[in-house]
Amino acid sequence: MLDTYIDPAIYNLISKHWNSGSHSRFPIDEVRRAFPILAERVNGQPLVYLDNAASTFRPQCVIDRLAEYESREHSNIHRGAHELAARATDAYEDARRVAAVFINAPSERNIIFTRGTTEAVNLAAHSFARPLLHEGDEVLITEMEHHANIVPWQLVCKETGARIVACSAEDCGSVDLMKFASCFTPRTRFCSVAHVTNSIGSVMPIEEMIRIAHSRGVPVLVDGAQAAAHMPVDVAALGADCYAFSGHKACAPTGIGALYATDEVMSRGIPYQGGGHMIESVTIESSVFQPPPRKFEAGTGNISGAVGLAEALRYLMRLGMANIYAYEAELMRRLYDGLSQIDGVNVLGGDIERVCALSFTHERFNPTYIGKRMNEHGIALRAGHHCAQPALRRYGVAETVRPSVAFYNTAAEVDVLVEKLEQMQ
Ligand code: PLP
Repeated sequence: MLDTYIDPAIYNLISKHWNSGSHSRFPIDEVRRAFPILAERVNGQPLVYLDNAASTFRPQCVIDRLAEYESREHSNIHRGAHELAARATDAYEDARRVAAVFINAPSERNIIFTRGTTEAVNLAAHSFARPLLHEGDEVLITEMEHHANIVPWQLVCKETGARIVACSAEDCGSVDLMKFASCFTPRTRFCSVAHVTNSIGSVMPIEEMIRIAHSRGVPVLVDGAQAAAHMPVDVAALGADCYAFSGHKACAPTGIGALYATDEVMSRGIPYQGGGHMIESVTIESSVFQPPPRKFEAGTGNISGAVGLAEALRYLMRLGMANIYAYEAELMRRLYDGLSQIDGVNVLGGDIERVCALSFTHERFNPTYIGKRMNEHGIALRAGHHCAQPALRRYGVAETVRPSVAFYNTAAEVDVLVEKLEQMQ
């Protein structure tokens, strides 16, 4: 299915580099040339951007596609009788198809556009879970979640009298499946868990977790914010009921993301926002809604954002998500090996499989100070609680430094970080 989106020129380029199967042959030079911002200098030094878990950069093809859309195609979508409305509608609905292909959803009808993962979780909490929740019911999460997968559940629980149950995490940042299974009770109505944690980059055994939840008749939302741009995601194979991701963490603009939901979940859902675009007909007393997914997309959406998202996802698919995953795994290994050998550095979670992000503390320097000192060398890192305060509390810390990679980073950049940290006094 993905082959539909592979441009022959790029395919030739990639296969030239990849036929050997060696990860070290990733076409990193071509990739880096595709991102103009990587040529920036910060404090007189070449930019070393290791803050990709927070947001990623856009390649030139996305920048060009946005300019083309704004110059030649923009109008509001659906219902317009004129040519530009048709162009904008085509571009928007094409983006829905691309998003479906990207995560192997059965159809574009399973994709709801949102502002990002946060809005997707809020939508799922209010439209899909809330109708199932009554006083005393339970929503199951883990203690490793981003605040975006905690606070929306607090809001719906407050409204319904339900409560949150958080499965504890192991030192490796993942959950023990027996422990996870024991968190289910006859009152568990919904489960919402991260695919990859944004605090320490640990990978959850999501397929097994979904299987356990389904064996108890509980639907699962997967927060894929830190997974979607770093590893192949196949919602059909996972069996997820819902899957959320953010465009800006996958080389697309900010303010656009997607919520995948199965036909079954969508058909039972109740819109939590009303307005234009989502209705078939309206009287003063009541409305008939559009069929899903539009039923859940009230108001004018982020049309140009969706167009940018489609271009970004096509770009990622041309590179190949399996290739990206393998290349980044080498960077993560190098990052862990380098950092864990520095005197005074403690890497949270130890030697585990990590995707995108790693968190560490330093015996002698606090995280904010390290972030500032690294910035002097042009190195962009995040320092703080990373919107995952319960997860960091689990490790007995309030803040960490979190370097995070993307496929346009290099081994040399990882080495610069390690070297500058080693030299810190
Ligand atoms: N979930 C996880 C695991 C995240 O890492 C993030 C952002 O860092 C979010 C949710 C929220 O994403 P957004 O701010 O794009 O809505």
